[in-house]
Amino acid sequence: GDVVLRVTDLSVRFPTDEGLVKAVSDLSYEARLGRTLAIVGESGSGKSVSSMAVLGLHNPKKTQITGSITLDGTELVGAPQSTFQKIRSTKAAMVFQDPQSSLHPFHKVGTQIAEAYQAHHKVSRSIAQKRAVEMLDLVGIPNPQRRAQQYPHEFSGGMRQRAMIALGLVNNPKLLIADEPTTALDVTVQAQILDLVNDLQKEFGSAVILITHDLAVVAETADDILVMYAGRGVEKGYAKEVLAQPSHPYTYGLLQSLPSHSEDLEELKAIKGAPPSLLNLPSGCSFHPRCAFKDEVGEACWTTLPEWRPTPGLANRQLRCHLADPVATLQNDEGVR
Ligand code: SF4
Ligand code: MG
Repeated sequence: GDVVLRVTDLSVRFPTDEGLVKAVSDLSYEARLGRTLAIVGESGSGKSVSSMAVLGLHNPKKTQITGSITLDGTELVGAPQSTFQKIRSTKAAMVFQDPQSSLHPFHKVGTQIAEAYQAHHKVSRSIAQKRAVEMLDLVGIPNPQRRAQQYPHEFSGGMRQRAMIALGLVNNPKLLIADEPTTALDVTVQAQILDLVNDLQKEFGSAVILITHDLAVVAETADDILVMYAGRGVEKGYAKEVLAQPSHPYTYGLLQSLPSHSEDLEELKAIKGAPPSLLNLPSGCSFHPRCAFKDEVGEACWTTLPEWRPTPGLANRQLRCHLADPVATLQNDEGVR
């Protein structure tokens, strides 16, 4: 599909009393119509921050953004709030985490969806109301006619998520950003919502960005994957291929820590150590303090930032790592690290 979002050399920094927080550094990716891109990483990897920048949900006075973000041909770096407002109601919608476009507690759900539609279409109230009921039906809300007349607090958590998706989709946005739920939605409801997002993508042909730390979710949902560590991309490729054969030590570590890779939970091999402070990134490769393979390379790991390069031996794969033959190195790992 066509590229709808192109992020190029994006850096996002927050000045604080303790120094500059380097939340995102030199990030590049693209989202295409009809495809789901998973952006994966631990918390603090920058995966949410970059999508906040796409939607203009950051505080412009407290954020330094450089690079380029083009959404459907519009440059967003440095754009005024009015541009972002327009984009959020017509071109891009965020599900799960979007305080700015979530439902208003004191207005009927159907009215909110109808008004969002009317803001961009010259139609009568009754036609907009009909559209709202259709949207509630489309996202799987039973009795949509009656539900449209209710207030958000009359909906369950899962139904509210569905209503938010209906609101987000009413103007056919080309980009849907699904950031992992921070609220305690139960796992079954989460799975249902992800299925819904998948179905709607097929119906609308939009691009989806799925932001998550959960690789099991990626396996089921994504076409493409970008793995982030400490604000940078470290590996990208087709999701199924990356999960089947990771080539970056960090991706490898994430996969090793999945329960499905071990029969015995006590054998779980999580990556040792914690992600670095974004105030003070390690020299060279940011992952080096935790990397079990740096001795295979030596000095370059802590002196030189790896640039993107094609993964030797794997088509359609890019990574940032100095290992000469990462695939062979990871395959030979005995898993005792
Ligand atoms: Fe590990 Fe070095 Fe590769 Fe970084 S560049 S992931 S430290 S081997
Ligand atoms: Mg997040």
